[in-house]
Amino acid sequence: MRCPYCQSEESKVIDTTHDSQGGIRRRRKCEKCGKRYSTYERLIRQTPLIVKRDSTREEFDREKLLRGVRTACTKRPVSAAQIETLVNEVEASLQQLGRSEITSRVVGDMVIERLKDLDHIAYIRYASVYLQMADLHAIRDEIDKLLEP
Ligand SMILES: [Zn+2]
Repeated sequence: MRCPYCQSEESKVIDTTHDSQGGIRRRRKCEKCGKRYSTYERLIRQTPLIVKRDSTREEFDREKLLRGVRTACTKRPVSAAQIETLVNEVEASLQQLGRSEITSRVVGDMVIERLKDLDHIAYIRYASVYLQMADLHAIRDEIDKLLEP
């Protein structure tokens, strides 16, 4: 950050304010010439690239995720709004990770974690599509518990 008056890079932050868009405004004082100026940092939300099982990368596809969750929730007592909220939460969590890449497994786990709280059948449906056999054995205990009278 250069002082607009003397181009010095040495400055002291005197005040920091956050705006509703997630931007940060900083009042600075130049250490060299003593003049004051403001800088504004805009938060750029970026969704990481998804690394698939075969190591290929693809852009995070919100619509695709939405379709997958909707399919798992077919004929279950889960509203469109709940599904929308779940997908929004997953997308926001991915952005908050601040990573450039993330495995598809992490995304799947995020969805599964949330579906578990929402609807057990949808949760099992999604998990059975998403997870591999070893993981399915691991959740079998959960399923057994659900089937107990
Ligand atoms: Zn200066």
